[in-house]
Amino acid sequence: MKNIKEIISLMRNPTQKDIDLIQKSYDFALNAHKEHKRFSGEPYFNHLFATAKNIAELGMSATAISAGFLHDSIEDVGVDPEEIRKEFGEEILFLVQGVAKLGQIKYKGTNRYNESLRKFFGAMSKDIRVLIIKLCDRLNNMQTLEHVPKTKQLRIAKETLEIFAPLAHRLGIKKLQRDLEDLAFTYIYPEKAEKTKNLLVKKKEEHEIHLDKFRESIIKKLYKNGITNFRIDYRVKGLYSLYKKLERYENNIDNIYDISALRIIVQDITDCYRILGIVHNSWKPLLGRIKDYIASPKPNGYRSLHTTVFSGDGSIIEVQIRTEEMDKESEYGIASHLSYKSSASHNKSLYLVKNIISQKNIDDIRNKNSEELIDIPIWIKELVKYQEATGNKFLEEIKKDILEERIFVFTPKGDVIDLPLGSSVIDFAYMIHTDVGNHISGAKVNGKFVALYTKLQNGDRVEIETKKSAKPNKKWIEHCKTALAKHQIKSAISRELKR
Ligand code: MN
Repeated sequence: MKNIKEIISLMRNPTQKDIDLIQKSYDFALNAHKEHKRFSGEPYFNHLFATAKNIAELGMSATAISAGFLHDSIEDVGVDPEEIRKEFGEEILFLVQGVAKLGQIKYKGTNRYNESLRKFFGAMSKDIRVLIIKLCDRLNNMQTLEHVPKTKQLRIAKETLEIFAPLAHRLGIKKLQRDLEDLAFTYIYPEKAEKTKNLLVKKKEEHEIHLDKFRESIIKKLYKNGITNFRIDYRVKGLYSLYKKLERYENNIDNIYDISALRIIVQDITDCYRILGIVHNSWKPLLGRIKDYIASPKPNGYRSLHTTVFSGDGSIIEVQIRTEEMDKESEYGIASHLSYKSSASHNKSLYLVKNIISQKNIDDIRNKNSEELIDIPIWIKELVKYQEATGNKFLEEIKKDILEERIFVFTPKGDVIDLPLGSSVIDFAYMIHTDVGNHISGAKVNGKFVALYTKLQNGDRVEIETKKSAKPNKKWIEHCKTALAKHQIKSAISRELKR
């Protein structure tokens, strides 16, 4: 029998009231689903328990954990919503119904699917916990996908990779994003996943020898400089994330420096910068790879200092420097802000939230100190606008604009080129070949002539025309997204000047 202690132990200072609520939801779910089995033949309750546990692991409140236990009870075993309202209250009923919506529909691009997604996004824009519970539910579905019929497997895995993993990413919940992506990847592209995995294992071993050595030296340096309160961690890149990166680096793993990274975690921000100084003072950094995500956090709130250095023994090592708080945020993202009750941590957490939610919401958080006040990122609010504006194309549109950070465009031969969102024709040309970029004279997108500055859209077919006499122009740099193109343009111009 699953023990509720497993869940309670994951919570930060649960009250007796919290524990009672979780026990009650546990008992309710166990009883409601007692005849109910999963494809594997195991009791359905195992799925509810695992979902609740995933929610607890993210640091969410007893309310959210309770909804995790109950999330399939209306839809799958016909529990009357009124009963949930009576036993658990309005808030938990809302969460359960919000999560349930997406469950009953099929992935086939039908209106019904679109309709259900709209409802789901609607519920999630009122309460972001709906999405977090759904992601925890999906994680367990993915972990047990082998028992599901083959035809269903692919649909669920695709939906996970196209919709849920990107949503986790947008919320900064790295832990869920990585697990969802890697699981889906192995179902959708089993061969590629296997190949990437072998590559990763091999490289990781090689890398760790260097990392261990580097770790020793850095500890000595830090102590020498009077920094003693820190811890060091390794992180290994996720499988899917590595695969995507390999695609961008011509499948040459030797050009990828962050397969594993060394992470230095300290107590305050000043120490982060001090350590960066110490690192650069001892090891030469690679130009262009020093990133200050503390001063300029990523759009999903991620904060950390990154640098990549020559370790001195022929290897190149990425170092990430951050505080404990940033480290927690980087794994749990928005979830690490939802269940804080004490006002002290509330204020501390506003820094990250500020980057993803509107000022008005921040003011609301300051004014109210209630758990019910849930942060809604701006882009989720925008989803609601999308629903009104896009009609039947809703899913298509949000996938393109909101869920994807990268676009796929096609060469005339039909080869796929993967570019960051916002890339222009020039980025594309340089991605094909340096010479193509350096001699670009014109371009057609989907058969029509366009300006070189034209930003590309997902699915565009791009044809580049070159002339021997054509040369890069300094102005192009402003109209490029990729560091690659910017770099090539600069070096072509400086070569030209030297002639
Ligand atoms: Mn479920």
